[in-house]
Amino acid sequence: MDIGGLETVVANSVYVSARGSLDVLAAAAMRDKKYRAKLNLPHIRECEHMKATVDSAFDSMCVRQPIGRWLFQQFLSSDLTHRAAGEFWKDVEDYNTVLEKDRVQKAQKIINQYFDISSKDFCSFLEEKTVVRVKEDYRNTRSDLFTESEQQLLKHLEASALGGFKSSPYFLRYVQFKWLEGQAVTEDWFMEFRVLGKGGFGEVHACQMKATGKMYANKKLNKKRLKKRKGYDSVMVEKRILAKVHSRFIVSLAYAFQTKSDLCLVMTIMNGGDLRYHMYNVDEKNLGFSEVRASFYCAQIICGLEHLHQHRIIYRDLKPENVLLDDAGHVRLSDLGLAVELPPGKDKTKGYAGTPGFMAPELLQDKEYNYTVDYFTLGVTLYEMVAAKGPFRVRGEQVDISEVTRRILSDPPCYPPTFSNELKQLCDGLMEKDPEKRLGFKNNQCLELKNQPFFRELNWGQLEAGLLPPPFVPDPRMVYAKNIDDVGVFSTVKGVVYDAKDNEFYNEFASGTIPIPWQEEMIETGVFAELNVWGDNGKLPNDLDL
Ligand code: ADP
Ligand code: MG
Ligand code: MG
Repeated sequence: MDIGGLETVVANSVYVSARGSLDVLAAAAMRDKKYRAKLNLPHIRECEHMKATVDSAFDSMCVRQPIGRWLFQQFLSSDLTHRAAGEFWKDVEDYNTVLEKDRVQKAQKIINQYFDISSKDFCSFLEEKTVVRVKEDYRNTRSDLFTESEQQLLKHLEASALGGFKSSPYFLRYVQFKWLEGQAVTEDWFMEFRVLGKGGFGEVHACQMKATGKMYANKKLNKKRLKKRKGYDSVMVEKRILAKVHSRFIVSLAYAFQTKSDLCLVMTIMNGGDLRYHMYNVDEKNLGFSEVRASFYCAQIICGLEHLHQHRIIYRDLKPENVLLDDAGHVRLSDLGLAVELPPGKDKTKGYAGTPGFMAPELLQDKEYNYTVDYFTLGVTLYEMVAAKGPFRVRGEQVDISEVTRRILSDPPCYPPTFSNELKQLCDGLMEKDPEKRLGFKNNQCLELKNQPFFRELNWGQLEAGLLPPPFVPDPRMVYAKNIDDVGVFSTVKGVVYDAKDNEFYNEFASGTIPIPWQEEMIETGVFAELNVWGDNGKLPNDLDL
C-alpha cells in the first residue's frame, strides 16, 4: 500500500470510531471534559439584563426553538389553568408521529379527552366547526386532522399563557440558555477529522463539537480565494439561506465562524456520500437505482424543495451530486451556493445559474422564472437516478453544452424500455417545457405532485416525520468519499491583502451559533438535560434564586 492509501486508511479509522458517537451515550463518553465544563448556565443575575432583549416572540420562542418550546411546555404542565392545553399539544404531536395503524385509536382518545364538553380536560377554545369536522373525519387517518385545532390551541396559548410564562422561572431558564447560546464558539471547540470533499473555495472536513461530542461537517471557505474569485456574495447568500431553513430534508447550519485563513460553515454531517456516487460508483455492474429506491429519494427531495419554496427560496442546483445521504440512508439537499431568495413583493427572478443538462428551458431562454425551474431539475434528477444517464445525453457521449441546451429546449425526453408508465408520466410532468403546465409548487405546497401515481405506495406523513425506513442503509464501516489523495489540493493564493471592508464582511459572516440547530444539539446529546436542573419540592434552584 502506498503512503497516500495508508493515510486514508488511518484517517478513515479514526473518523469511523469518532462517528460511533452518534449514539448519545457514546457521544457523552467522547466529550472533552474541559470544553463540556465551559457549557454552563450563568447565574441569573449575570444575564437578567437580557430579559428585555432576548427573542421572545411567541412563535419563535414557544413553538420553533426546541429549548424554548420544551420550557414553555414545562410551564404549561406546572400551571393548573394550562395543563390540559399543554397535554393536548403533546398528544397532537404524538398523533403526527404514531404509525398509521394506531392513528384512529389515538385520534379517538384525543377526541374523548379534549373535544368532549363533559370531559374535565375539555378545551373550550376550540371552535365548534373544527370540533365537528374532526369528529366526522378522524377515521381517515389524515396527517392534517388536527392542524386547525393546533392553530387554535397556539392562538389561545399566545393570548392566555405567554404572559404567565414570561413572569415564571421557566422564562429565566430560557434566558440563561440564550446567554449560553450567544457565547462565542471558535475553531478550538471543534476537533477535526478527515476531509470529506472538496468545494470551490476549500475543503469540507468531518469534525466533532468537543463539548457535546456531536459530529458535524465543516465547510471551509478560504478567505484569500474568496476575495480573489469574488465569492463574497455567493457565500453570504448560502450562509443566510442555510441559517434560515430548518428541515430534515436540507442540511442545516449550526455554527458560522472564522479563523485567520477561512470562513467556516458547520453543518449536518452527511456520512453516506452523494447520490451520484451511489448511482455510479458503488456497484459498477448495476448502475442507477430501482424505481422504489428512486421514489424514496425523490419524495425526500420534494419535501426539501417544498420547504425552500415556502421560504421563497429557489434552489437552482438540484442534481444527484448535491443530494447527500446520512448514516441511516435519509437524504438532504446541500450546496445552496446558487440559491436565491425572492424578496417580498417580487415573484420572479432572472439569471443563468445551474448545471448544464439540468437547467430548465425558461432559465436557458433568459426569461424571468421562479420555483418552476427546480421541478425541471427534479425531473432530470429522477430520470438519471433510474436510467443512470441524463435524459438529454447519450451515455459516454462527448457533447457541447450548446447541443445539450438545444435538446432541452426542443427535444422530448426519450425513455428506456424499463421505465414504468407511472415513472414516465411523472418525468413528463416534471420535464414539461412550459413552466405553466409543469408539475410543482402550487398554493404553497406540492400536493398535486405528491399525489402522482408513481408515489401511490408512499406514506407521505411517515416520510415527513422521518419515520419511513430508507431503502438502503450505508455501511457504517465504509467511508463514502474519495480517498484523501484523490480529493486534490488547492494551490496557494498569492497577492491578496485584506482591508477594513474585508474584515467587516468576515465579521458579519461569522455570526456564531444558529439557535435552532444549537438547541437541538444540546437536547440530542443530553447536555440540555444535564443543565436544566430544578430544585426539589417546587423550590427554585440556586442559579435562579435572586
Ligand atoms: P461547493 O459549494 O464549493 O461546491 P459543496 O457544498 O458542494 O461545496 O461541498 C463540497 C463537497 O464536500 C461535496 O461535494 C461533498 O462531497 C462534501 N460535503 C459537503 N457538505 C457535506 C456535508 N454536510 N456532509 C458531508 N460531506 C459534505
Ligand atoms: Mg458542490
Ligand atoms: Mg456551492
